[in-house]
Amino acid sequence: MKDFDYIIIGGGCAGLSLAYELQIHKKLENKTLGIIEPRTEYKKDKTWSFWKVFPHNFEDCVEKNWKNFSINIPSKTNFLECNDYPYQSINSGIFYKKINSALRENKNIKFFKNINEVNVENSFVFNSVPLPIENNDDNLWQHFCGIEIETKSNIFDDTIINLMDFDCDQGESVHFFYTLPYSKNKALVETTWLSKMSNNEKNYDKQLQNYIETNLKIKNYKIVYKELGAIPLFYPSNTNKNKNINIGTAGGMTRLSTGYTFLNIQEHSKYIRENIENISKLENYEISKKYQFLDKIFLRVLRKHPEKMPDIFFKMFKTSPNTVIKFLSNKSNFLEDLTIIFKMPKWIFIKALFK
Ligand SMILES: Cc1cc2nc3c(=O)[nH]c(=O)nc-3n(C[C@H](O)[C@H](O)[C@H](O)COP(=O)(O)OP(=O)(O)OC[C@H]3O[C@@H](n4cnc5c(N)ncnc54)[C@H](O)[C@@H]3O)c2cc1C
Repeated sequence: MKDFDYIIIGGGCAGLSLAYELQIHKKLENKTLGIIEPRTEYKKDKTWSFWKVFPHNFEDCVEKNWKNFSINIPSKTNFLECNDYPYQSINSGIFYKKINSALRENKNIKFFKNINEVNVENSFVFNSVPLPIENNDDNLWQHFCGIEIETKSNIFDDTIINLMDFDCDQGESVHFFYTLPYSKNKALVETTWLSKMSNNEKNYDKQLQNYIETNLKIKNYKIVYKELGAIPLFYPSNTNKNKNINIGTAGGMTRLSTGYTFLNIQEHSKYIRENIENISKLENYEISKKYQFLDKIFLRVLRKHPEKMPDIFFKMFKTSPNTVIKFLSNKSNFLEDLTIIFKMPKWIFIKALFK
């Protein structure tokens, strides 16, 4: 069995982001790293999108930047600009390729398929594999299915994304569609639910077909890519132990009110890299307590009043785009927090404070 200074369990978004961060900052010239990843082949399996609120290492993996977005409820649309914080989409296929080819240049980094092939006892471990989730009917999820479609003629306005379109069947929870036009004839269209993930919400293909044909009024299209996901809107049960730090979703890097995780993973990687020399004394890194608290209240309202959520989201975006983007990206100041809080319906949020 092989010994390493560091071991990363899971070569997905968080594991590879951390390895790349350590590699490009020359933290692996005199240290060894083992990466455990069971997949036999890396191919595009996710599209990571976010408002770019700070520079990151993956500008060359960006599929497209947008400076405009919209959100709508039946009969009302709000158009917003995001010149200061463009919305970006990262192609995971390009991301995996870029990182893996950089890491394979370093002889101190070795890849394994199974944890049993390495000796974890003498290593510092970064773990991105969440513990199995206990069956709990009360857990909320952001579950979704997206397809990339291509059309023969130019149909899309590729200068603007539709972040949330609530003009659709809400079932008994919260449901919206999300459209990212990569070009005039190619777009990612996603059906997204914020719910306890009941089975009758999972006929995604039908939902997408109906939305594309009825709402987007597109009859002829070809599906060129499909992605499925379920992001837990609750914290994982993994705990950091001596010589073990959890990263990624397993490390609590998901913002629970939005599901956004990618940029939090990048900040966490940077924090680890900056402190790698004192890694065993490192303080736990987490999404700030302020957002943890506000998201908890928000999700209580969502659980109790799903029918009110389209309106609540719509109102949240009825403020300056920079304020709401910073709030949703963990970068808002106290005044900006207050601006968002005052947009919320007071009574149900006050009641949610007390459960
Ligand atoms: C389809 C999809 C789309 C998403 N879109 C966005 C988005 O637009 N914006 C955003 O901010 N977030 C998004 N997310 C949320 C989040 O950014 C991603 O889930 C991200 O991939 C989380 O990174 P991770 O490293 O924690 O998990 P993963 O990327 O899933 O990596 C975990 C790795 O562990 C490996 N593994 C599994 N079991 C073992 C084992 N026993 N031993 C070793 N390795 C193992 C897996 O093969 C995988 O490679 C999305 C999630 C999904 C699923």
